[in-house]
Amino acid sequence: MGLWNWDLRTGMVQGDDTLAQMFGDPPPGTERVPIEEWRSRTHPEDLLALDPPLIACLKGETEQFEVAQRIRHRDGHWIWGLWRGRVTERDAQGKCVALMGSFHDITERREAHERLQLAASVFTHAREGITITDTHGTIIEVNDTFTRITGYSREEAIGNNPRMLQSGRQGPDFYAAMWHSLTTDGHWTGEVWNRRKSGELFAEIITISAVRNLLGAVTHYVALFTDITSLKENERKLERIAHYDALTGLPNRVLLADRLQQAMARCQRRGHSLAVAFIDLDGFKAVNDLHGHEQGDGLLVALAQRLQSSLREGDTLSRMGGDEFVAVLSDLENTKDCEPVLERMLHAAADPVRLGDTLFQVSASIGVTLFPADGVEPDLLIRHADQAMYQAKQAGKNRYHLFDVEQDTAVKTQREEIARIRQALTAQEFVLYYQPKVNMRTGQVTGAEALIRWNHPERGLLAPAAFLPAMHNHAISIDVGDWVISTALRQMADWQAQGLDLPVSVNIDARHLQKEGFSLRLAALLAAQPQVPTSHLELEILETSALEDIALVSDIMRRCQAMGVRFALDDFGTGYSSLTYLKRLGAEVIKIDQSFVRDMQTDPDDLAIVRGVIGLAHAFHREVIAEGVETIAHGTALLRLGCEHAQGYGIARPMPASELPHWAQHWSPDRAWTAAVDATPR
Ligand code: C2E
Ligand code: MG
Ligand code: MG
Repeated sequence: MGLWNWDLRTGMVQGDDTLAQMFGDPPPGTERVPIEEWRSRTHPEDLLALDPPLIACLKGETEQFEVAQRIRHRDGHWIWGLWRGRVTERDAQGKCVALMGSFHDITERREAHERLQLAASVFTHAREGITITDTHGTIIEVNDTFTRITGYSREEAIGNNPRMLQSGRQGPDFYAAMWHSLTTDGHWTGEVWNRRKSGELFAEIITISAVRNLLGAVTHYVALFTDITSLKENERKLERIAHYDALTGLPNRVLLADRLQQAMARCQRRGHSLAVAFIDLDGFKAVNDLHGHEQGDGLLVALAQRLQSSLREGDTLSRMGGDEFVAVLSDLENTKDCEPVLERMLHAAADPVRLGDTLFQVSASIGVTLFPADGVEPDLLIRHADQAMYQAKQAGKNRYHLFDVEQDTAVKTQREEIARIRQALTAQEFVLYYQPKVNMRTGQVTGAEALIRWNHPERGLLAPAAFLPAMHNHAISIDVGDWVISTALRQMADWQAQGLDLPVSVNIDARHLQKEGFSLRLAALLAAQPQVPTSHLELEILETSALEDIALVSDIMRRCQAMGVRFALDDFGTGYSSLTYLKRLGAEVIKIDQSFVRDMQTDPDDLAIVRGVIGLAHAFHREVIAEGVETIAHGTALLRLGCEHAQGYGIARPMPASELPHWAQHWSPDRAWTAAVDATPR
């Protein structure tokens, strides 16, 4: 406590050493300073505070005064002081002329007070609701916002437990986790659904902190919470927009994908199946066009409800857009279990719907695929169901169609194979081998058959049986066929340049032959090798590959023959209408199929066929050639039957083009063949 005295007559004040120390002044000794100096160091906001009590004192109304003021310390900061003064001397008229008193430094007390005031004001005015409880969870204080949010007054809350707000939406586990976090970390934050006094539910985000004393023991819990109900509401709305169809309220494709994924996982765990049903309404577009979109929408909503109610619990119906829906029928112990549901959906869709005074009737086409039998990704499952739906439409609508997994894989494999073949064409992986054809009697090399091979980089040299079936009935067979013809023609030109003048036959796919513009393309290919006589090209038609339109084929053949190209009927005798072909198609050559030749010496039936074919050829004035001559004996037998032309392993295997000139130069027929001829009268 510093002491001072003030002489009003001189206007001077004097403080003691303690006061000087408090003010940061040098020790005063006996020195006095004018009162003005102290006043000038007083905080301007506090100056007037002194005046009323002082004036009362000076006037003689009071003997003492007491006032708190801030005064500037020498080094600039403010100190809060409590001035107390008392009159020590009066003049004759009783007017005060001298005072003395004390000065207390109350800075710390003031600051603590201010902090408290600030805290109180934060507490009161915070936009968060605040609850303070003791360690037993009993509420000892709440703020105004608490009341505003919960509807409970301060009086109602105090003494109560925050449990009063519980909605029952969170289970015991939730609160156990909260307490665990509070006791181990000292705080917890989370979202809670609580109930207002009015009974209304509200969502809050809440932070609870444990308050500890100096010894570290928990003394209180303080909870701050914000009402986030409207945020939650918005979140829900957004979630609805993102996951549900606005018109029907059904899950949309986003949510469907999610549900499907979950259902698939569940089925796999339990060893069950699920069905994905793609539903497309039949005749809906007409309703829209005739009655307008409003009626159309009404119909969609009504049908969506009906479809939904024909499902089992746990199934999902979603709208994909337009008049397309997808249902996921999950947990099928038996795949057949989905059938009654599908039937119910068909009925639901086909039942008439009354809107206003119009009666509408549509139906549904449903495509179904079953998982895990169809073991693909969710989006592919939906695509497969969509494909099957398309087939249901094609089969006459108002029905369901099951997706055929095996057929799909076959189609897919073919697609991949075709892609690989196309690549092989550009990479020039195909080559032609040539198998000589000879006259066994004269020893003349009469030609060669071009046989395609695939020089596969990984699988080695592939025979046609390994890749032709994949191209069957596909447009690529035409590109490959064109390549074969042009390559054979170029080879003939090459051989010609080397002095080997050899006719070549190529095998021709029926589809290729019947392709529009075949004769024109053939003419162009022939024109590209003008030195090769057109009569050197022979086309072997594979009889078995079913010529669809005999009149058309015969017409095409005639056009090609007009250019000089010759034809052979390949594999003769194996097809079911050989005689028709022989009669109606003007092929110059008949090739006896190797299957008859192979066993002609042991199987009398085959021998009869070979004999018959040779007889037919002679009767119809066609040339005849036998394929599959594997042994000398085969050749001898054929010669005896009057067939001189042959090809087969017994003569030569198919060989690369480069080997053929050498082979042709050195080949001579077996002695037995020439002898056989001599023995047989012709
Ligand atoms: P193909 O036209 O009947 O051809 C004769 C087939 O018999 C060839 O088989 C040939 O290698 C084989 N062969 C020849 N002599 C003998 C023999 O003495 N014994 C046995 N067991 N077989 C013999 P490859 O080359 O495997 O051709 C099979 C079939 O593929 C051909 O039958 C033909 O239908 C088709 N093909 C071959 N090349 C082409 C082509 O370039 N285009 C089309 N569209 N089909 C072709
Ligand atoms: Mg052939
Ligand atoms: Mg053949």
